Amino acid sequence: MSEASGTDRASASEPGGDGVPGAQPPSVNGVSEASGTDRASGTEDVLDVRKLTVDFDGFKAVNGVDLTFLQGRLHFLIGPNGAGKTTLVDALTGLVRGSGEAVFRDRDLLTMKSHKIVRHGIGRTFQTATVFERLSVLQNLDIAAGVHRRTITSIFARGKVPERVEEALETIGLTSLAHRQAGILAHGQKQWLEVGMLLVQDAKVMFLDETVAGMSAAEREETGDLLKRIVADRTIVVIEHDMEFMRRYADFVTVMHSGAVLAEGTVAEIQADEHVQQVYLGTVTEVAARA
Ligand code: ADP
Ligand code: MG
Repeated sequence: MSEASGTDRASASEPGGDGVPGAQPPSVNGVSEASGTDRASGTEDVLDVRKLTVDFDGFKAVNGVDLTFLQGRLHFLIGPNGAGKTTLVDALTGLVRGSGEAVFRDRDLLTMKSHKIVRHGIGRTFQTATVFERLSVLQNLDIAAGVHRRTITSIFARGKVPERVEEALETIGLTSLAHRQAGILAHGQKQWLEVGMLLVQDAKVMFLDETVAGMSAAEREETGDLLKRIVADRTIVVIEHDMEFMRRYADFVTVMHSGAVLAEGTVAEIQADEHVQQVYLGTVTEVAARA
């Protein structure tokens, strides 16, 4: 499937080229800001995972996985419960020990401690929301932004909202709720706040573990649109069960099963894949039949 990824990559690197209206900032002298220096010099980020294995006392929850995550595309990671998706993310974020290699910006994540991995630009959400319920939206973002600060001073002591935090509030659409307690946000809004926390951490790679689970149709759509707005200059990995959501938003799909990669490709390729249909009886089969 390397050909498919090659084409995806080329199209993803055209600024504003994936049909996201309004996502393109104003251009100066015809040079779009969105293209940035990274893109112009052709050094887009890649997270390269090789032979990743996670062994729990002899049980290989992840078993020799090779995966390449590219900047600028919404990469969906799907697979039945127990396939090893969360464990794979745990290994890449330093929560469990994995063997093999996972290189991002010249560092092997598998050799790093979790807080260093965060500072190196890798962020993730968890299957259950992890916002501080008693703090405001703004305070949650401020704390997340603190990963790059040396000393712990609250936003009130510093007296001003960092630009990055303001921007993130806008991007996730929660500006008007900045002072609301996170605990009373709607389910979808909490998930967006988590995405905002990754934005203020300046995460270049984001793993979103079942972020749209439990969301209404409208919230899913808002989430998909949010991810499209922010994916151009980062790598986003969406772990998902909802096939409809995948069909609508995935640029590339990896299917895991029993700790291994079962298939990879575009949505159309995945839907047509016999092995995937066998593993996913009742879900992908149904989707494929309708396609
Ligand atoms: P997924 O996220 O795809 O549903 P997981 O990564 O959570 O799957 O789990 C993969 C497999 O690893 C499952 O069989 C699960 O029971 C097992 N597993 C996960 N964490 C541990 C652990 N800490 N110790 C032992 N087995 C685990
Ligand atoms: Mg999981």
